[in-house]
Amino acid sequence: MRTRLDDFISRISAQRDILDHIAARQASLPDGPILEIGLGNGRTYSHLRVRFADRHIIAFDRENGAHGSCRPDDGDVVIGDIRETCLSYTGTRAALVHADIGTGYPEQDAIIREWLPSRMVAVLTRGGFVASGLGLKHSELEEMPVPPSVEKGRYFLYRRR
Ligand code: SAM
Repeated sequence: MRTRLDDFISRISAQRDILDHIAARQASLPDGPILEIGLGNGRTYSHLRVRFADRHIIAFDRENGAHGSCRPDDGDVVIGDIRETCLSYTGTRAALVHADIGTGYPEQDAIIREWLPSRMVAVLTRGGFVASGLGLKHSELEEMPVPPSVEKGRYFLYRRR
């Protein structure tokens, strides 16, 4: 029987594999900053910071709660409800957004799926990418293939048309 530990490992390795997949194709990444939607403990922020060393990374969360070893400058963390704070970053022209704000509760995730896609489109530049733990439905977002190591339905990659 599949356990929550199995699911966690699958999600975490999917994050790493998708971010590495994008990093290996940096030539196809447009200019612009990277947005980390859901800073949390800063694990994926730390990965982004190393893999995309020349990019400005802006993180969003309710607090700057990253581990001390990878804590962003407070000036690079947008504090508040992402549903609102993302709106104030409309037109940012981000090259890449990583969104990791799924809850694991289908009812709550269904609500997030209602507002997250339009926020992603608002902050992304044309040709920019979003890697998301939640599937995003929006006419401006084209689903892209993920590495074969990523379990089906675990993590998603889109490019803004
Ligand atoms: N990727 C992070 C890492 O590697 O450490 C973990 C992110 S954690 C799963 C999700 C984070 O998103 C939490 O820190 C939570 O506070 C934040 N979050 C979720 N929904 C949010 C919202 N609507 N507004 C602000 N922060 C939110």
